[in-house]
Amino acid sequence: MSIKTEERELKCAVCRKTSAQTVVTEFDRDTSVPDLDMRPDEPHRSYIKYWVSKCPHCGYCNVSIDIPALFTREYLESANYNKFDDSLSGKFRKMALVCEKNKVYAEALKACLYAAWVHDDMNEDDEAAECRRAAIKIYDSHKAVLSDDPDIVLLCADIIRRSGDFNRVVREYKGKFWGSGLLSVIAAYEAELAEKGDAGCHKADEVPGVTVK
Ligand SMILES: [Zn+2]
Repeated sequence: MSIKTEERELKCAVCRKTSAQTVVTEFDRDTSVPDLDMRPDEPHRSYIKYWVSKCPHCGYCNVSIDIPALFTREYLESANYNKFDDSLSGKFRKMALVCEKNKVYAEALKACLYAAWVHDDMNEDDEAAECRRAAIKIYDSHKAVLSDDPDIVLLCADIIRRSGDFNRVVREYKGKFWGSGLLSVIAAYEAELAEKGDAGCHKADEVPGVTVK
């Protein structure tokens, strides 16, 4: 077994209608080495399609459609929400909008990152970079909240670098003080890659001195 799923009838928190949704019930722990942005390796990478659900009645996209929402159904009918399609990447972008409305900003940022991963897998570099820029926009818009979480700040070093904004990575991360030695070496590695103009994907165990089990 790598993953087990089942169909469940779930009630949408926005429109109150029920629909059959695929729910992950069990999965093996991921013991592989992730990328620097925590993207899992296969087979877990293929499971990201289970990280977003959509209500077929109102279009609500979230990790699960029964998660309460701080907005009404009208928002899901807006042009802003519907500028994204129902591809996996589009659903993650809708989830990002929903999470931002629900004021769970780290989840909103990560939903944009997951959308980028979908494009990474299809070698769609421009689209992936656009999703990463959307993630950074969320970071910049809610910095007062998000900059309190060192894991998110460090994650953004990778997102900014892979979107191609090398100067910003060097400016904000080179020589930055971190409470943790591990975060310091990863940040220094991100700054080093940025100085070389490297927007590529790197694995966590490439960081000098870091062992990933
Ligand atoms: Zn609904």
